[in-house]
Amino acid sequence: VVIPLKAQISGVVPGSIAADIGINKGDFLISINETQPLDLIDYRYLTSEEFVILEIEKPSGEHYLYEIEKDEDEDLGIIYNQDTFDGIKKCHNKCIFCFMDQMPSNLRDSLYIKDDDYRLSFLHGNFITLTNLSQQDLNRIKNLHISPLYISVHSTNDTVRKKMMNNPRAAGIHSLLQDLAQSGIQIHTQIVLCPDINDGEILKNSVSDLAKLWPQVQSVAVVPVGLTKFNKNKDLRLYNSQEARKIVNNVTLWQYDFHRSFSSNFVYLADEFYLLAGLKVPPAEHYDGFPQIENGVGLIRQFWDSFMKATKLLPPSLQWPRSVALVTGKAAAPILNSVMIKLNRINNLSVDLIELENDFFGKSVTVAGLLTGHDILLGIKTWQKKHHKIIKEMIIPSVMLKSGDNLFLDGTTVEHLSHDLKMKITVIEPTGKELIKALIST
Ligand code: SF4
Repeated sequence: VVIPLKAQISGVVPGSIAADIGINKGDFLISINETQPLDLIDYRYLTSEEFVILEIEKPSGEHYLYEIEKDEDEDLGIIYNQDTFDGIKKCHNKCIFCFMDQMPSNLRDSLYIKDDDYRLSFLHGNFITLTNLSQQDLNRIKNLHISPLYISVHSTNDTVRKKMMNNPRAAGIHSLLQDLAQSGIQIHTQIVLCPDINDGEILKNSVSDLAKLWPQVQSVAVVPVGLTKFNKNKDLRLYNSQEARKIVNNVTLWQYDFHRSFSSNFVYLADEFYLLAGLKVPPAEHYDGFPQIENGVGLIRQFWDSFMKATKLLPPSLQWPRSVALVTGKAAAPILNSVMIKLNRINNLSVDLIELENDFFGKSVTVAGLLTGHDILLGIKTWQKKHHKIIKEMIIPSVMLKSGDNLFLDGTTVEHLSHDLKMKITVIEPTGKELIKALIST
């Protein structure tokens, strides 16, 4: 039985074609030129024609046909609250380091959804493993040229990859990537590096195998495994500072070679490796346009450069005295300390940097993005008591909240936290410019 797909329309852009012809929020898109779109990719492709017939179902159940003549590629102005109309392709792996399996069991359901959907990889840069890809999916990627894709490789060695992902279908990644590359699909890859499992020679071989697919494989991000206090896998551990330094040294040597051949460093280390090694992060040009910034590769450099550029906006003095706390995790504290020194030179401005430990996921989790409402509440109260100081205003980066809503990972809302701590909370995008703007605004 084929169940007809219905894409619920969650909004219509005012003044758009859709608004003009009477398509409304709450209507359903049934077909475009008699084809049922599976997702936003189909929708965009099918509506790029000059002549489009939309079949729309109204909430009353009535169906209408809208014949539209427009410029090629002109957007119809329809908004959907989901990107895939036929559901999300779920992950079939059981990765030894999976973060979802290292979370407590009482969080909201949406946090446990393990997606592994090539459409979301293309639309949002989500990393996928290709282990659930059907031949039909593969053909569609090639035919519609769904590119770029973001792919978790971890290792090009079949035995290692299968073991890390606990899935026999994890084998054959190199030939699959080769196939996609030959079809002109651009690929960004990541390797979650686990001590004694996929590092050393295995890492070297994986990076060298991926480099053979340059320029279709555009980048390799190497990110260290993250462990929470809920991790049960005894074979996993975190890197220490000495190991991180060795990894930085090795990868830097490979980068010299790649740069000579490709004019691109090709392989990039997550910021965490430099922090752990106690080294400065490289300059902006090292990152070749920051292809993996969302993966924590180059975030610190981008933040610092954007802060330095925006310092020209800083006045020598604020009109009224202002005392603000910046809240972050242990990982970003060194960089924010340098920022603070500059900010505290401004008359009438006093900024306290509060580094919080992660009590919710465990002390080994040091990134700001995984701090919860619980951690902030606990941390701020302890800090106030220790420093005999009451904070009235706090700035937090938006990475602490789930995108699109005001919730921390533990379900606390910003409003609740603000109420419980009796202080104003400002959420900013984590860039130096936004920080400065928030500090000098009244
Ligand atoms: S592919 Fe991602 S979501 Fe799935 S098990 Fe591995 S780490 Fe977890």
